[in-house]
Amino acid sequence: PVPVLELRNVTKTYKVPQGYFKPMATLTAVGGVSLTVARGEVHALVGESGSGKSTLAKMLLGLIPASSGEILIDGVPIAKTDRREVARRIQPVFQDPYSSLNPRKSVADLIALPLVAHGIGMPAERQAKVFEMLDAVGLPRRVIDAYPNQLSGGQRQRVAIARALIMRPDVLICDEPTSALDVSVQAQILNLLMDLKREFKLTYFFISHNLAVVEHLADRVAVMYLGRIVEERSRAGLFEAPRHPYSQALLDSVLTPDPELGMPEAGITGAFPNPIAPPPGCTFHPRCPRASDRCKVEVPKAAAVPDGFATCHLAA
Ligand code: ATP
Ligand code: SF4
Ligand code: MG
Repeated sequence: PVPVLELRNVTKTYKVPQGYFKPMATLTAVGGVSLTVARGEVHALVGESGSGKSTLAKMLLGLIPASSGEILIDGVPIAKTDRREVARRIQPVFQDPYSSLNPRKSVADLIALPLVAHGIGMPAERQAKVFEMLDAVGLPRRVIDAYPNQLSGGQRQRVAIARALIMRPDVLICDEPTSALDVSVQAQILNLLMDLKREFKLTYFFISHNLAVVEHLADRVAVMYLGRIVEERSRAGLFEAPRHPYSQALLDSVLTPDPELGMPEAGITGAFPNPIAPPPGCTFHPRCPRASDRCKVEVPKAAAVPDGFATCHLAA
């Protein structure tokens, strides 16, 4: 079957200023990512802050164009798909429901926004759909006239999810959907997302810092480091036997969680590299406990490992 999402060697670079008298530098936020997401699965993306996860998400949503490479939706290049059609099929759930919801709009307006933008339905029909979505996300119908500041963080995220679902999309791109919420609310929202996935037959591309969450709900997991996918596996394959030293370090750090640093940084020594001047060879080599001289000069290729790939000389 044709994957619902496919990335072929997708790159995103930015020109960034270095200083008044210096030429602009090139920052590679995403460097040559190839991935497929099958219909109905939860495909997780993990990696340290700055690894390029949100940049990838924005390209999948059609919010920013790729610098090179190709993104396909059901086999059709996103660049050749009408922007509104992309927005109908792929919807976002972002981290912070407060900044993603206009504070001057009522819940009714916020949830109906995609319908209005697409010119769908008369006001009465829209209201019926909004009620349907409120029911689906477990919000009482009376919140329809409320404003975001009258709602709790969890309720706001439910509004954002209702808005994402009203167009009946195929895919939700969830970028840290619970990390801005109180810990007590996080599980409720995750359970809601999993219920909705079944009810609406959704596919999830799920970005998270929290490996415990990923282990709980992902079918497949991609591990990103400095703009590249270093390992892509089934959940069981990754969590039972990670093959890339970076994934191994990430998983080790789960055993010694550091609430201040956040999970990923805790088990990995050394600083995250400057993305404007990435290390040569394998970009992980300055921090890799298993690096050899070869790693300093030769870029590793993706090598097949049980149910996935790992981009490391030792995995080949
Ligand atoms: P986090 O976990 O903190 O959300 P992330 O993995 O989502 O991080 P991105 O936000 O995708 O990372 O950023 C990847 C890299 O691209 C970073 O070095 C960031 O500074 C850079 N970057 C992102 N957007 C831009 C932009 N508009 N202009 C210049 N650089 C950018
Ligand atoms: Fe470590 Fe070398 Fe593998 Fe890179 S290629 S992850 S430096 S062993
Ligand atoms: Mg991000």
